[in-house]
Order: sequence, then C-alpha cells, then structure tokens
Amino acid sequence: MPITPEEFRAKFPILIGWINRAISENSSLARPVGSLGFRRLADYFSPSILASAKVVHVDRLPMPPLSQMGFTQFTEWERIEYGGITYLDTFFVTPKEVANEPLHFHELVHVIQWRALGPERFIAQYADGLERLGYRSGPLEAMAYDLEERFKSSPTAFDVEKEVRRLLKAP
Ligand SMILES: [Zn+2]
Repeated sequence: MPITPEEFRAKFPILIGWINRAISENSSLARPVGSLGFRRLADYFSPSILASAKVVHVDRLPMPPLSQMGFTQFTEWERIEYGGITYLDTFFVTPKEVANEPLHFHELVHVIQWRALGPERFIAQYADGLERLGYRSGPLEAMAYDLEERFKSSPTAFDVEKEVRRLLKAP
C-alpha cells in the first residue's frame, strides 16, 4: 500500500525530528568534507559546499526506525547495508569507506539534493522512488549513482551543483 499524502504529512515531523537528533548527537564528531584531504572533490564542488557539508565517521550508520514510525513499506531499504547515508548537510560513513572518494562524491550529491528540494520534498520524492522503483532506481538515488559513475570514469570535472539543480529542475 503506497503511503498517502495525509500519512506522509502526519509522519514527516517524526522523521525529521529523528534526523535532527541524529545530527546533533554526533555534531562533536562532524568535520567539513573539505578538511579530509580528498584531491578531486574541489574540482567538482564549490568551497562553500565543501566547508558546510559535514562528514561523521561512525562504526554503525544511524538508520531511522522506519517500520516503528509506521513507514512499513520500506523494509527492503532498512535491510540493505550502506557505506554512507546523508541527512540534510551531514553524511555518515562507515570505517570501510573513509578513504572512498567516489562515495564522498555520491553523498555530496545527496547534500545538494536535500538543499535544492528542502527536507520535506526530498523525503517525499525519495520515499516515492523507493516505493515505486526500489532503492537503486529511485530518481534521486539513480542521479547520485549516475554522477558518481561520471566522476569515476572520466577525469573531466563538472559543476555538480549546477548539474543536480538542472536535473531536478530546481532554481
Ligand atoms: Zn545514495
């Protein structure tokens, strides 16, 4: 059963509350992406993004208890083991992926998507993609994987924020 707009509006505050807590509980561990020493990211992202987007290295990614919150259609998503996950301007990375530059690139695409759409639209569109198409094929996830693939397969830099906003048709 797809989630209705009414259900979404009722549950969104619970989810965003959980997200804000996960960020604030880890804020002492958060570091700007630009401080990590990756060589290529500066060719793709502006200094302001690299200074404001934060990374937290954690043993276990904080995952919202979606089923408990009543989002029962996302059990597939809850079962996947991720290397990183982005909430608003902050992303969390597992120990195995701390040196993985393409993964950091991928999560930065999500940071830009969160900003361009705003939290409510980001979560609504992400959840809709997940429900209709599955994790890897939802439009926001597919965009992050496609751009990550460009980053990995070609040395030619491009302005990721501009490209993401163009693809989202966001100003
Ligand atoms: Zn992703």
